[in-house]
Amino acid sequence: MKVNKVVILGGGVLGSQIAYQAAFSGLPTVIYDISDAAVDSASKKIASYPDQYRHDIDATDQQIEQANENLSLTTDLKSAITGASVVVEAVPERLDIKQSTYESLAPYLDDDALLLSNSSTLIPSQMIGFVPNKKRFMAMHFANLIWVHNVAELMWAPDTPSKTIEDATDFAKQIKMIPIPIKKEISGYVMNSIFLPMINSALSLWANGYADPIAIDKNWMVSMGVDRGPFGFLDIMGLNTAVNIEKEFYENTKNDDFLKIVDKLSEYVNANKLGVATGQGFYHYPNPEYQDPEFVKA
Ligand code: NAD
Repeated sequence: MKVNKVVILGGGVLGSQIAYQAAFSGLPTVIYDISDAAVDSASKKIASYPDQYRHDIDATDQQIEQANENLSLTTDLKSAITGASVVVEAVPERLDIKQSTYESLAPYLDDDALLLSNSSTLIPSQMIGFVPNKKRFMAMHFANLIWVHNVAELMWAPDTPSKTIEDATDFAKQIKMIPIPIKKEISGYVMNSIFLPMINSALSLWANGYADPIAIDKNWMVSMGVDRGPFGFLDIMGLNTAVNIEKEFYENTKNDDFLKIVDKLSEYVNANKLGVATGQGFYHYPNPEYQDPEFVKA
């Protein structure tokens, strides 16, 4: 599909990455967020990407310059949405916020604009009732650190036209993602259906006093032969996002274990230790302790 303009709703952890990736891939891209403070915070995140792109995927100065030229940020919804070919929603993982965000688009959205949700746990059928372009709506779920973990999980509602799925697949490829179609709706998609139970088990071990984050991460890294443990992943996800997810698990299960986890994580969030985003979470950034080769040796 021809993409003239991409709009990302919400310049948080994932929204700012999706926007930069789209701009880096040559598409004019606008981030819309709700306040000057949120736009400022998105700009700070974006300022850190060129070095990471250079380091991780050998981005050239010319590509970085092009990405910067393609990207803008605004708090003006009308100017952002007008003329958009693709709108990617990356607002907080709360159904009420998703609903008010989608409803606010209706006056400005082109009928054929593709509307994609990056929700991690909500399925398209849960949102389609309040979405303006129902036939052009589906989910495209990205992984954190999008430029290296470049998958786009694609999920759609039962009545979604195949043209919408084809266009979304094409858009995913245009921004250098590997499309992963999911044949039936499932909360958590593929990746989080595997990842979140692992994260929850690690958090539960910690919250119930069985082992500390560092011991858990060391164990996982050495045993599984991987370079990051569950608490390292949590820092990347953002501990504020993790709190929202764990609260949702509690609401859905009423299992007190999730409340214990929320309490423990909230101590970090209240101290502004949100993870990579604020420079400290379970580890210190930009050089987290677990990347030191000595970390797993002692
Ligand atoms: P975040 O809290 O970092 O960012 C959310 C952003 O949305 C903030 O900048 C906030 O100001 C903005 N916002 C709030 N209301 C808005 C509105 N009405 N319109 C526009 N912007 C608004 O959250 P996040 O971690 O980036 O998560 C966003 C979405 O992406 C969630 O659905 C989440 O499930 C999903 N997701 C997150 C991750 C992750 O690792 N953090 C990974 C994949 C998907």
